[in-house]
Amino acid sequence: MRRRASPSSLRTSPSPPRRKVLALPGTTAASNDVKSLFECQECCGFVLPPIPQCENGHLVCRSCRPKLTRCPICKGQLGSIRNLALEKVADTMLFPCKYTSCGCEKTLRHTEKADHEEICKFRPYPCPCPGTCCKWRGALHAISPHLMQHHESVTTIEGADVVFLATNINIPGPIDWVMLQHCFGFHFMLVLEKQEIHEGHQQFFAIAQLLGTRKQAENFAYRFQLTSETRRLTWEGTPRSIDERIAAAIVKSDCFVFETNTAEFFAEDNNLSISVTIFMY
Ligand SMILES: [Zn+2]
Ligand SMILES: [Zn+2]
Ligand SMILES: [Zn+2]
Ligand SMILES: [Zn+2]
Repeated sequence: MRRRASPSSLRTSPSPPRRKVLALPGTTAASNDVKSLFECQECCGFVLPPIPQCENGHLVCRSCRPKLTRCPICKGQLGSIRNLALEKVADTMLFPCKYTSCGCEKTLRHTEKADHEEICKFRPYPCPCPGTCCKWRGALHAISPHLMQHHESVTTIEGADVVFLATNINIPGPIDWVMLQHCFGFHFMLVLEKQEIHEGHQQFFAIAQLLGTRKQAENFAYRFQLTSETRRLTWEGTPRSIDERIAAAIVKSDCFVFETNTAEFFAEDNNLSISVTIFMY
């Protein structure tokens, strides 16, 4: 069955409230008291080794330190004094992942914390839908439900072999057509973007993005194909992952790129059918 993709709409939803205090559920009052010693006086995040302090002993974290000229509490000098005693205590402790408020229950040594947070499945991602100013952020598993519920124009199509039908490709100006493809237990976001390169010269860019991690994306390939009775144009590649921005791939033309007149060779009544096949290795 063919389904139509129409230009994506401008819809927004509120971003979830940010929790400031990082308390670990199930820990004793005493260990939470010790943890509170590691609180950055500027951002309320954790201060982890190497731990710098102001001349009066107040702590700020490494990401806040370069932005400050004075201690936020006592306005004293922020020199290069380290708190070695607290660094030793930090070596013996487990700290909660910074996405605790998003549902992650992991506790980690300070040396492992940053690596885990890079791949934490509760890490909030921005809405990947192009052509909108949606401010939504959420966990990986919440992205496809968000696209289906809050982006009415984004339809979902089942199967590894589908047709991505972009309607009214002659509409002037930059425009995005977006569709979700569901196969192999994953959602792929299919995007066709029309850009005006310079006055009167337009180009089309088509790309597939897995709503999954980079590692998961490596298990797949996608093929886009335009066909008419006498012509065929094909592109194959590895889908982008949710950790990569599709805008960056479009800037580098690392996707299916074609000109307006090419699009017209394959379009019927200004509707362009792109055959899409997803392969799993
Ligand atoms: Zn801080
Ligand atoms: Zn101070
Ligand atoms: Zn985590
Ligand atoms: Zn959105």
